[in-house]
Amino acid sequence: MPSHKGPVVAQGSGAPASNRETDTVELAELGPLLEEKGKPGIAVPAKAEAEQASPVPQEEEEEEEREEEEEEKGEEQMRVLTLPLQAYRAMEKMEEFVYKVWEGRWRVIPYSVLPDWLKDNDYLLDGHRPPMPSFRACFRSIFRIHTETGNIWTHLLGFVLFLFLGILTLLRPNMYFMAPLQEKVVFGMFFLSTVLCLSFSWLFHTVYCHSEKVSQTFSKLDYSGIAILIMGSFVPWLYYSFYCSPQSRLIYLSIICVLGISAIIVAQWDRFAMPQHRQTRAGVFLGLGLSGVVPTMHFTISEGFVKATTVGQMGWFFLMAVMYITGAGLFAARIPERFCPGKFDIWFQSHQIFHVLVVAAAFVHFYGVFNLQEFRYSLKGSCTDDSLL
Ligand SMILES: [Zn+2]
Repeated sequence: MPSHKGPVVAQGSGAPASNRETDTVELAELGPLLEEKGKPGIAVPAKAEAEQASPVPQEEEEEEEREEEEEEKGEEQMRVLTLPLQAYRAMEKMEEFVYKVWEGRWRVIPYSVLPDWLKDNDYLLDGHRPPMPSFRACFRSIFRIHTETGNIWTHLLGFVLFLFLGILTLLRPNMYFMAPLQEKVVFGMFFLSTVLCLSFSWLFHTVYCHSEKVSQTFSKLDYSGIAILIMGSFVPWLYYSFYCSPQSRLIYLSIICVLGISAIIVAQWDRFAMPQHRQTRAGVFLGLGLSGVVPTMHFTISEGFVKATTVGQMGWFFLMAVMYITGAGLFAARIPERFCPGKFDIWFQSHQIFHVLVVAAAFVHFYGVFNLQEFRYSLKGSCTDDSLL
């Protein structure tokens, strides 16, 4: 907010006020930074400064000051304390900035002027949000166009989609399940992990520009969400794929939990979110996902390739893996923006493609698991029919 300036013409005399006078009025608004005459203070008394600076004759000025004295009831006798004027103006500018942000009056800025903690992808040249230390402003920015708009909406819509899918699946009549409670818990874990991952993600992208601390906290949640999604995706897949081998199922479930929790612990490392560790991040999550190769091999060797690709839904899980790997690869290599810096600032940047592939892969995974469940139901949960599985 612009500050209120004092009168520029001194009352009575008609003489122009000195800079000192304007400053005094400005500082007088500070209130708590003023102290009455006689009490300790650092700043120069207004009167002493005036004697040096004012072009008005001494006599006239004294008269003028007497008038002011009457009007302002001794206010000019107060002494300015502590903060130099420059610091006050800097504070004022900051306040003005925060107010503008609160009102939603901010403009996108180029990468070059971003503070270090907001610098992530130097191939996105323009369209960045400025640092906005207000959650209200961050959430209102969901409806503005900037580098994060696509990232926010891809996972916000994905979150809504999986919330609905989850509710529909869990509300399915129990007659469609062999062990309704157990199977709904298994599906529930998958949907919970998906919904958590997607909501951590869109929240992170929304408040990313709030402040360094908030950005760091939410980026840890975002990365933990990916590990949670991978763990949660393994649960129904292992449950139905090793339906008749409870021991193998338990071992694989335990291993993926240990690996997933380890990835979450690594994600708490402060430097994990730094741009130079982009490949490390992609590697950690790729490794976690690719740990699924071991149970896949186990299933294929014990049941045969034909069964693996038919009743085992391997085709869908393979497609899901290809989508995740493609997404992680584009994310790590920052394709396509690296080939045309500045052309993908708002739409079709690598991170958005990665987001879309994550949602699509999670959907394909759900479809595969849904088919596994249907197949198990068609067998009435039997493990004796060797000709089928
Ligand atoms: Zn993201």
